[in-house]
Amino acid sequence: MRTTLLLLTIGLLAYPQEKANLYVVHQIKQEALENSKVMDHLFWLTDVNGHRLTNSPGFDRAANWVKKSMNDFGIKDVSFEKWGPFGRGWTYSNFSAHLIEPAYSPLIGYPNAWTGGTQGPVQGEVILASIRVEADLEKWKGKLRGKVLIMEPERSIGLHTIARGRRYADADLAAEAMAPDPGPTGVFGLTPGGPGRQLPAGPDGRPMSMAAIRAFRAKLHQFFVDEGVAGVLMPGYRGEAGTVFAGSGSSQDLKAPIPPPMISLTIEHYNRIARLVDKKVPVKVQFDVKTEFFDKGADTYNVIAEIKGTKRPEEVVMIGAHLDSWHGATGATDNAAGCAVAIEAIRIIKALNLKTDRTIRLALWSGEEQGLFGSKAYVKDHFGDVTNMQLKPEHAKLQAYFNLDNGGGKIRGVYLQGNDMLRPIFEAWLAPFKDYGATTLTIRNTGSTDHVSFNSLGLPGFQFIQDPLEYFSTTHHSNMDVYDYVPKSDLMQASAILASFVYNAATRDEMLPRKPLPKPQPERRGEGGARATGSAN
Ligand SMILES: [Zn+2]
Repeated sequence: MRTTLLLLTIGLLAYPQEKANLYVVHQIKQEALENSKVMDHLFWLTDVNGHRLTNSPGFDRAANWVKKSMNDFGIKDVSFEKWGPFGRGWTYSNFSAHLIEPAYSPLIGYPNAWTGGTQGPVQGEVILASIRVEADLEKWKGKLRGKVLIMEPERSIGLHTIARGRRYADADLAAEAMAPDPGPTGVFGLTPGGPGRQLPAGPDGRPMSMAAIRAFRAKLHQFFVDEGVAGVLMPGYRGEAGTVFAGSGSSQDLKAPIPPPMISLTIEHYNRIARLVDKKVPVKVQFDVKTEFFDKGADTYNVIAEIKGTKRPEEVVMIGAHLDSWHGATGATDNAAGCAVAIEAIRIIKALNLKTDRTIRLALWSGEEQGLFGSKAYVKDHFGDVTNMQLKPEHAKLQAYFNLDNGGGKIRGVYLQGNDMLRPIFEAWLAPFKDYGATTLTIRNTGSTDHVSFNSLGLPGFQFIQDPLEYFSTTHHSNMDVYDYVPKSDLMQASAILASFVYNAATRDEMLPRKPLPKPQPERRGEGGARATGSAN
């Protein structure tokens, strides 16, 4: 009995009870739930602004809107922090596609990013050209001028038996809260993000490296240009029923060849064309694609805004989300939702005139969809180099970075990224939101978004556990990523929690306990500068 009492006292001494300032939490809830502006932010970033592909006019428009909004909130300290090289910008301002023969039908789809356009409507006969490896190029030389290519046969569609949308049930959260079985994915595992894509096989049948894929793609695109290919049709990399998932069709590299139009179609429309071609029925399509490239220099920027701390302004709490999006729709769940919540959290802190010891800094990243480029560049510029773990003075001054980028679903908890020491602290911060469904802490890691750039350098970076809703089934990188799939109450709840976490982190006496520094991560072959090609969330 005496020993237990002794241990308990030691525990309490070692980890004095973490407290959340409930009066401030109460004020934050009031502002977030009764005077919310979060859906206005989302509306302007999506319905008004449109897509925000990095280095496109849409990204610049959104960045300027953020700057103006911050100023309207009374936050004057806003900057566009340059980084680079990223590459050329791209956008499109017209798209239509039609099946002309053997019978008329409109085609649902859109052009892949960084691919070429047409000078008005173009018609062409569709042929199947299965070009998978360099050796195939010779076979097709002189046979492709004016043709529209498909490069794979039809792809069958499975029967849908599971609901498209879902919220985590208690059982799901209980499973998520369990540590992963120690083993292949390391101690704290990696809760997978969205479905990864299969890497194509090389001539030896083994998956090609990213560098080999990029090199072959550049050769293929130059071949299409040299051979006068009119365009390429492909199925979205997943999706059906008119929902097309697509991303970049070529590199944003200033030196990369610009391929002819490469159009992703909904699988049902692609399959009809593939079946017709397979049965040797002549197929003619027409498309009109107006694209624009911006080679005004390869650099881009992150949007940074801050409220200076009072007692310890050199110490910083960061919140963030990536402002860039893909171009199929308005990037509402990926990731205008995260941006709207981060903007709302800093608006709430300002509106309540809450004074914090530490500086609160908002970062809205660019280049996330191409490989977490913006946040990686920021971490390298400010905190240190992951390749040799050379740290900068700011490294010790960062309290934490909180990221939101798992769709529009409400916060159900936090991934502790393997940091056991934080459990009692985040438990106390989360407690006032238990009755809003935020109940779960897991020791697991999660990946594929910008907090990873911080964690890689041993900085406390966190992504929240969010309800999946229809993120992976419908909106993530698709032409249906729109405002309609973001529930207002979810973003209001998330705004209150994020504002509260930031306030607690910015006023807590001590710096948060950290894990030991990770080992240096030498650059992988073919990953120059901030141009790594990890798949992003
Ligand atoms: Zn994202």
